[in-house]
Amino acid sequence: MNLAEYRRAARAWLQENAPADDYPEADAVTRAREFMAKLYDAGYSGITWPERWGGQGLTQAEEREFAAEARGYTLPTYVFSIGLGMTGPTLVDRGTDEQRERFVRPLLRGEEIWCQLFSEPGAGSDVASLQTKAVLDGDHWIVNGQKVWTSVAHHADWGLLLARTDVEVPKHKGLTMFVVDMHHPGVTVKPLRDMSGRANFNEIFFDNVTIPDEHRVGEVNDGWSVAVTTLLHERLSISAGVGMSGRRDDPTSIDALRRVVDTEDPLVRDELVELHIRSRALALFNQRLAQETKAGIFPGARGSAAKLLLAELTMFKADLATRLAGPESALADHLLAREISLAPGMALGGGTNEIMRNIVGDRVLNLPPEPRVDKTVPFKDLKVGTQG
Ligand SMILES: Cc1cc2nc3c(=O)[nH]c(=O)nc-3n(C[C@H](O)[C@H](O)[C@H](O)COP(=O)(O)OP(=O)(O)OC[C@H]3O[C@@H](n4cnc5c(N)ncnc54)[C@H](O)[C@@H]3O)c2cc1C
Repeated sequence: MNLAEYRRAARAWLQENAPADDYPEADAVTRAREFMAKLYDAGYSGITWPERWGGQGLTQAEEREFAAEARGYTLPTYVFSIGLGMTGPTLVDRGTDEQRERFVRPLLRGEEIWCQLFSEPGAGSDVASLQTKAVLDGDHWIVNGQKVWTSVAHHADWGLLLARTDVEVPKHKGLTMFVVDMHHPGVTVKPLRDMSGRANFNEIFFDNVTIPDEHRVGEVNDGWSVAVTTLLHERLSISAGVGMSGRRDDPTSIDALRRVVDTEDPLVRDELVELHIRSRALALFNQRLAQETKAGIFPGARGSAAKLLLAELTMFKADLATRLAGPESALADHLLAREISLAPGMALGGGTNEIMRNIVGDRVLNLPPEPRVDKTVPFKDLKVGTQG
């Protein structure tokens, strides 16, 4: 099936099966699980994932076509976005066959929810400075520490955890990746409310939590290279909207704005044209990445450019909508309030705009890299987090 046919089939399936978006928030997780099971049966879950582990064995090109169609709907898949976009692809790329067998299909079918446990209070952009510790005790690891901003952890069954396993070596060289059971005693999840009023991310505390060694992903102290795999997938999936619940009737879209502003006003027209150009540029960039992927060219660090463009467009839309609709648009019950308050999060989650620019400068444009004075210093001698 060529891409156009694939997209037509996806459109027809979504028209038939996408649920109405007027369901109570309390039922969101149940709805999400039911919808994922339907997606799986129809062959739209794990589009790029190997057939052996339950996927469809197709490319990012098909995935982006499906995501582009899905953007017109409010699909209840948000709680699966971390599993589908980040932790699942990491297990497919870097897990053992036993781990893939155990975890991948239940995720694709919507039976298990995942979260990503990287950021800490003292380690966000510089995540390699994290301090959560895992110590080997026989055939188990014992974990102590704290994570923060962990999306959907309050619903999660499993988490992909990056922890420090050696403080004697430089920071990137003493990290190991694990799968942690979020229902294990000693895991405490505390929701954090953001300025939109939602509590979608959390603080997590690990108090002597044990992890069997077979739940280690990759080699001991090679967790950084596994994390890089996750982060590449994260940026590509955010920019392509994989597993994200789109929003029908986005109040900051051109179609929505033109219904509420004076489109005869030349200044307003200029603004709407600017919005159209930016939206179109991002769509074409995503399309190009999709076509290149289809041709076997991996987007790599250019995924960071796509994520940066999406974050900038999201902020531009929220800002424009606020300017056109007036200051009352920031009031809690205004149609635009949710979009306005969520927009800045897009410029932080998955790596900030500044970090995306650093990556693009360094790895796409081959500009001189940032100076890294701590590259060879043992982690225990660095003044980071609560150390020093
Ligand atoms: C909506 C949302 C969801 C999230 N979900 C998750 C999740 O599920 N799991 C998870 O692990 N984390 C998650 N995060 C955390 C996210 O990854 C971090 O917020 C992000 O990496 C930035 O880290 P920080 O907040 O510690 O800011 P800091 O790293 O302290 O940065 C503060 C400021 O300094 C700038 N800065 C820092 N270093 C540099 C540099 N070298 N050059 C230029 N500027 C720099 C940053 O751009 C930023 O403006 C989420 C965040 C948000 C907003």
